[in-house]
Amino acid sequence: GLDITWAVDWVRRSAESMSEHRVELITLDREIGDGDHGENMDRGFQAVLPKLDDLPAGSTPADVLKLVATTLISTVGGAAGPLYGTAYLRASGASAGATSIDAAGVAALLAAARDGIVARGKAESGDKTMVDAWTPAVDAARAAADGGSTAAEALQAAASAAAAGSDATIPLVARKGRASYLGERSAGHRDPGAQSTAYLLEAAAAAAT
Ligand code: ADP
Ligand code: MG
Ligand code: MG
Repeated sequence: GLDITWAVDWVRRSAESMSEHRVELITLDREIGDGDHGENMDRGFQAVLPKLDDLPAGSTPADVLKLVATTLISTVGGAAGPLYGTAYLRASGASAGATSIDAAGVAALLAAARDGIVARGKAESGDKTMVDAWTPAVDAARAAADGGSTAAEALQAAASAAAAGSDATIPLVARKGRASYLGERSAGHRDPGAQSTAYLLEAAAAAAT
């Protein structure tokens, strides 16, 4: 199962990925939004890093996820801050108390995160938002868990599905967020939040191997 070492490594890899893809996410958001997504996400995850050192002994993955949530809520801003903040807060709640998370736990954690984003942002599948990466990821993790996969395999399946979900946002017309102001002109561009979700889940899978 996935333990505290995994959770901390997920955060470190997430911060590395957001920094590495900062300009790319800015460019995507410049095309259909206001061009700050890469900067917002990089700032948020960089702010979590020093706090990892203050985690008390005996902390659980849920404690790490809660730390990410509170930090993202206070530092990311925009639409993505509260959405990702809610996602990590719900994921923390779904894994509360567990020292080790199995494949079913991975599916439950991702489903809770997705449900939090939907509760907060009211986007449906196909609205060209981060939900279009999260929902296929949840479905893939659940299928993997049902099929007897390990937690690491479930995360790998989720990450692949999120990447495909991000690709699938390209032809869509945005119906939520800033990109929706562009109407039909939003088609032909990848949703930045779906792509950051794909990177975060890729980091989660990499931390599990
Ligand atoms: P802002 O649009 O406030 O500048 P960001 O650029 O950081 O915030 O984040 C934009 C991303 O947030 C979008 O690419 C999209 O994935 C996501 N998003 C925006 N509104 C919603 C919503 N209502 N539900 C889900 N995701 C949303
Ligand atoms: Mg933006
Ligand atoms: Mg903004």
